Formats: sequence, C-alpha cells, structure tokens
Amino acid sequence: VSSWSDGLVDVADSGDLALRNPHDDSPPVSLPEVMNALTQRGISAPILLRVQPYLDRALDRLHTAFDSAFREVNYKGKYRGVFPIKVNQQSDVVERLTEVGRQYHFGLEVGSKPELLIALSQTMSPDALLICNGAKDAGFMHLAILSQKLGFNTIIVLESLHEFETVYRIATELDVRPTLGVRIKLTETVTGKWQASSGDRSVFGLSALDVVKLTARLEETGLMDCLVLQHTHLGSQVPNIMDVRRAATEACRFYVELTRLGAPLSYMDLGGGLGVDYTGERRPDENSVNYTVNEYCTNLVETVAYAMDDAGIEHPTIVTESGRFVVAQSAIFVFNILGATLYDNSEKPEVHEGDHHLLSDLLAVEGYIAGARLQEALNDAIYYRDEIRALFRRGQIDLQLLARAEQAFLYLLSRFKTAAKLEDSAGQIDEQLTGFVDYYHGNFSLFQSLPDVWAIDQLHPIMPLQRLNEEPTRSAVLTDITCDSDGKIDQFVLADGVSGALPVHELRKDEDYYIGVFFVGAYQETLGDLHNLFGDPNVVTISLDGEGGFDIEHEVEGDTIAQVLSFVEYDPQDCLATFRKTVEKAVKAGKVNAAERRTMMAAYKDSLAGSTYFGTDG
Ligand code: PLP
Repeated sequence: VSSWSDGLVDVADSGDLALRNPHDDSPPVSLPEVMNALTQRGISAPILLRVQPYLDRALDRLHTAFDSAFREVNYKGKYRGVFPIKVNQQSDVVERLTEVGRQYHFGLEVGSKPELLIALSQTMSPDALLICNGAKDAGFMHLAILSQKLGFNTIIVLESLHEFETVYRIATELDVRPTLGVRIKLTETVTGKWQASSGDRSVFGLSALDVVKLTARLEETGLMDCLVLQHTHLGSQVPNIMDVRRAATEACRFYVELTRLGAPLSYMDLGGGLGVDYTGERRPDENSVNYTVNEYCTNLVETVAYAMDDAGIEHPTIVTESGRFVVAQSAIFVFNILGATLYDNSEKPEVHEGDHHLLSDLLAVEGYIAGARLQEALNDAIYYRDEIRALFRRGQIDLQLLARAEQAFLYLLSRFKTAAKLEDSAGQIDEQLTGFVDYYHGNFSLFQSLPDVWAIDQLHPIMPLQRLNEEPTRSAVLTDITCDSDGKIDQFVLADGVSGALPVHELRKDEDYYIGVFFVGAYQETLGDLHNLFGDPNVVTISLDGEGGFDIEHEVEGDTIAQVLSFVEYDPQDCLATFRKTVEKAVKAGKVNAAERRTMMAAYKDSLAGSTYFGTDG
C-alpha cells in the first residue's frame, strides 16, 4: 500500500483499508464502512466510488508543480492546463473540474463534436482555453468559430491541410478570424503502451512538409496572424522522463521555426502523457513511470525556457492536456465476492478394494512432498492425475473413481501449498502452483468496469478492503459474472512484483468480502461495454467530512435490466407483453395455475426494474 497509494489510502488498526483526506490530517475513513453505509441506504456493490477530494488534489498538484517549476527556472510565461474530456466525460467529473479549475483558469480539450457541446455547456474562467483537437467536419468548425463570439477562448487545432481549407471557408463565410493551432507530428518516439501515438508514423498531425505547406497557405489567405498555438502529443502514460524531454526539445525546434516563418505563436501545447504510477515501482515500464509530477513539469519548463532563450523568443504559455493524471486516482471500483471455487481439499478420499492402482500411486505422492523431492512430487501428482483422466476418457474407469482421483489431487494440492510456504527454495513450485489457485467470484463485469485490464493488460492496484490485520491464507484469481473465460483478473501488483494470484482471506459465511480496484478514474467508464448485458454499476461521489465520515455528493443508480434491453433495441414493455401472452397460454393449457402466473409476472417485472448485477441476497 505504501508504495502505490500516494498517501491516499492506508491500513487502519482495525484492518480496514481507509481513505485519507489529502487536505488535512483528519481521521481516515474506512472503506468497508463506506460500503456498509451505502448498502444500508440501498446502494449496493458493485459501486464506482468517486472521491472528490482526490480529484481536487490532482488538479492542485498539477498547478502547484508548474508554479514551482516556473519559479525554479525563472520562467516568464504562464501555464494553462486543459482537461481532455475523452479521459472521463461523466458530467459529475467534468463539472467538478471546471468548477474547481476556475481558480487555475483550467480549460477543456475536446476531440469530437459531442465533446465540444459538453465544453460549450460549461462555465469556465474567461481566461481558460477550449482546445479543439480531432477530426472536425464543417459543423464542428462552424460551432467552434462561433463560440469565439461568446467569449470562449476556442482554439481550432489543425490536424491536416484539408482541415485548414474547411476552416478557411467557414471563417470567410462567417466573417470571423479564427484562432488556430497546428498539431505537429514529432519524429521522436516514446516507449509504453501508446508508442504508436508518437513518431512520424503516428496517425495525427502534420509532418514537416505539411507544416511548411500550411504556412504558405496561411500567408496566401492572410490568416498567418491567426496561428497562435502549436500542439504535440506523445501518447498517454509516457513511462520515461527522458522521452518527455527529448520530445519537448523537438517541439521547441518546430515552435522556433514556425515563429521564424512568421506565425505569431504564443501557446506551446505539449499534450497529454503525464503518467500515473499504477504499480508504485517508479520504473519506466508500461504500468509505472520513472518520474513525479514535479519532475515532469520541471523538465518541460526547463526545456522550453532554454530553447526560447537560445532563440531569443518570448516564453510561451505552456499548455498541457493531462487527463490520466488528473482523474485516474479519483475513482475506486469496489465489488463483493459472491463465492469461491477452492483448488484444494483437506479431505483425503478413500481407496476401495479393486480400485485402479493409479489412485494409490497418486495418494502415495503425499509421502514425499518436502525438501529436495518437492518438485518430483508435484510432477508425479500431475502425471498420475492425467493418466487417471485418460483412463476415464477411454472408458476404463467410472465416474465415481474419477471423482475420488480428482479429490485426491486436490488433497495433495493443499499439502503442496503448505509445503511451498515452508520451503525457502520454492520459487519454481510457487510459479507452478499459481496454476492451481482458487477462483474468487466477483460481482462485476470486467468488460463493463475494467476494460483496459481485459484489452491491454492494464495493471491496477487491487486488494481486499478488510481483515488486513489478518494473514491472507488463500491465493486467488478474481473471476467476474460474465459467461466469458476472459472475464477474470489474474495479474496483481504485490510488494515483490507482479503476481498471478491475489492473497485473500478465507470467506466467512454471511460476511461481505469487498475487493477494491484503485486508480480507475481515467478512460474506463465509457470504454466499458455491455458484454452479457451487464450495465453501468452504481456510481457514488463522496467527499470526506474531516471527522472520519463521508458525505454523498452525487449518486447515479446503475443501469436497470429494462435500460440495458433498450440499449440493444428491445422495448421492455413489448418483452413484458410477449412474456405475459406466453404465461397466459400456459395457464389456458393447465400447465400453470393463477398463483404461479402472478409470481411469474412479478418476477419478470421486478427483474426489468432491477440491477443487472447480483442483488444483496447474492
Ligand atoms: N491530448 C490528446 C490529443 C490525446 O490524444 C490524449 C490521450 O491520449 C490526451 C491529451 C490525454 O493524455 P493523458 O491521459 O495521458 O494525459
């Protein structure tokens, strides 16, 4: 916890994982207690929990880091951050960011027409920027240009030469001088999951050749004085600070040259990429970063300052489009465990007279599960088990014997797991035993709530929220409730590296067991899909009251079954009517009586109005 939590959560003496208030030293708020309190109010897991002070803190950290970098380097320009709406479009998030961001003149970045409409519905500081990236049609350009008349500082970032022709035509029709930016395709590449967003093969932006052509067109059309911003973006989650500096250096070269060609640039937009350390390993790899936000800002500011001083150009306003950093830490996804499939068994099966000798051979392995023979024992156990399975497939043994052999294998596995814990040199065995860990069945859909875990092997800190003062005696892979074998989490960040199993406690009857997935505020919600028709979970935004409690700021109930049916074009009322007819036919045929009819109709109606997930009664 201490390596990844960034001071936001901690283990309380009670054994609960607790939320710390980043703004003061008030008592931490127990997460299981938050979950119990929400359940009592009828809001049950799975829940996406937004912690408002964490959002505020990220925004504050970003601005404080730029402030101190400016002071360190004696930078004369300003910083104007914008939030890329695509990273989290939820109104609750965007509205909070614009509200808290007003003091920093924090703006918005849009990459599509719907996102533009969101931005135009917000009340930002009059000094905040509205950056328009992405592919833009004439309608987009029209609205973006007109918005300038309303006082928005809208900058249309040209992604291609073709876009210039569109903006030129519409601006001429409207008789407005558009404020323009240009997205440059840098040749420097970065490492990480979003490598393809960088370098000259990236899809977006203008190459050096196109930039020169654009300046010629700007001259010809008399719009050169409209080009005020230069944009570059390396891709999200840049792991290595060296890449940030190299790319910023190249961006500065373009800025200096464009200025030399007559563009009155005053904004240097360095895009997104500021990463989040999901594993806490502080390493330049796909799920971690080798820098802090302060280092990131200092590197950018220093690079820009030196390059501009060398060229004798005024320090520009630095813009970044940091999305992941601003929102990732602010949301926690919590689900309950519904049950477990345990991969061991403490009961030894009986051996009957006349049983195939392989069963006795298998059980005899118990005699040497220790020391130097541990590996040999595991190899033998697997061999005998597989041979017995082969006998069953060929019809040479019956189901009862197969069942006792499977039980014998599970019995041996419990012995292996105990032995591996005691042995010092059990590295290889540990790895093999990872293939026999338990399945803990979680009340969630991986595809709906953690799509990046499924799609790009994103690691998040994941852990039980309770009993943390008790040794976790079991190891598990977490499975979801979709009927899809991909619907499982089997990569976990532990203190000694990434593991294929999560240490968990034995489940207790009638006691909730919650798992928290941290840092899920960026990209997950809208990327999530309806696989198996599991809809949005409940979403609750809380603030911390400073006395160890919390307040609910906002609540959005999860999708009902009727809602998800309508998302795939069913009319829930039609479904109900058809079902009613089917039931009525069964009544007429004497297969169903009147009381059963009533129960059936009630069950269908209740389900339509209910959650897509398991209810509190499991
Ligand atoms: N700006 C642009 C143009 C992007 O494409 C992205 C995402 O890749 C971002 C900003 C946000 O990046 P990040 O979430 O890494 O801050």
